[in-house]
Amino acid sequence: MRGKTIDPEDWLTAVDESGFRATTVQETLIDIFARVEYPLSAEQAWDVARLARPKTGRATVYRTVEKLENLGLIRRVHGYQGCSYFVPTLPELMMLFICLDCGRAEYLDSQPLDELIKQSEDSSGHHITDSRLQLFGACADCQQNA
Ligand SMILES: [Zn+2]
Repeated sequence: MRGKTIDPEDWLTAVDESGFRATTVQETLIDIFARVEYPLSAEQAWDVARLARPKTGRATVYRTVEKLENLGLIRRVHGYQGCSYFVPTLPELMMLFICLDCGRAEYLDSQPLDELIKQSEDSSGHHITDSRLQLFGACADCQQNA
């Protein structure tokens, strides 16, 4: 993911701490998802995993994706390709941008969002701990190539 980097080791630690024993196949998948630039479906992750480990089972991939989602390490991109694609979740609240032309996923500076959330907390009295803002459009490269 551009802008921010995720250390696959942190994910392995999180998976371990959840009591889930990561196999080498799962380590491969963690590595794939921690480094993606574009939203990835479980099916695509299976394809990529098999390049490195041809015997990787489809069910193992789906189980691992479910586990990573449950742990909050990856998040589903809603309203895009049938909501079946995933991107890594960043620890902070960030705005996720998806280019509808090339599919690039990028986290954008969340400063304005942070301020909006702060205002909402102040006016509502609620304590907001999470957000899932998604922005769709055309990335800078795709606009130039249009
Ligand atoms: Zn694009």
